[in-house]
Amino acid sequence: MVYEYSLKTERENFYNITSKVCEAVSKSGINEGVCVVYCPHTTAGITINENADPDVVRDMLSGLSKAFPDRPEFLHAEGNSHAHLKASCVGSSQTIIIQNGQLLLGTWQGIYFCEFDGPRNRHFYVKVF
Ligand code: ZN
Repeated sequence: MVYEYSLKTERENFYNITSKVCEAVSKSGINEGVCVVYCPHTTAGITINENADPDVVRDMLSGLSKAFPDRPEFLHAEGNSHAHLKASCVGSSQTIIIQNGQLLLGTWQGIYFCEFDGPRNRHFYVKVF
């Protein structure tokens, strides 16, 4: 079963989607398996990282912007090559083990939809099997 979720992003940011993924796993009724969270966009991605201290997300966004700044030599006419670079670096999916009907996440882990080019209407898929 594939579950689709939508979100409207305002700007470059990480959006915590852990509760939506948990909801999909719960709906699936699968107790032991795997779930894949997939983002079908070229300037957004999916990552897993700390959900306790919001400064971690701020630092990750800051670090990614330092690693992948907008550069005058970029050719892509849309003008968002830095967002494409960040999206490829983060990746478009994550795989999470399901045990006893729960996502096997660490205590401090959350699942994030990473917007690198908002505002946009976005969606992501959760496949549970
Ligand atoms: Zn582009």
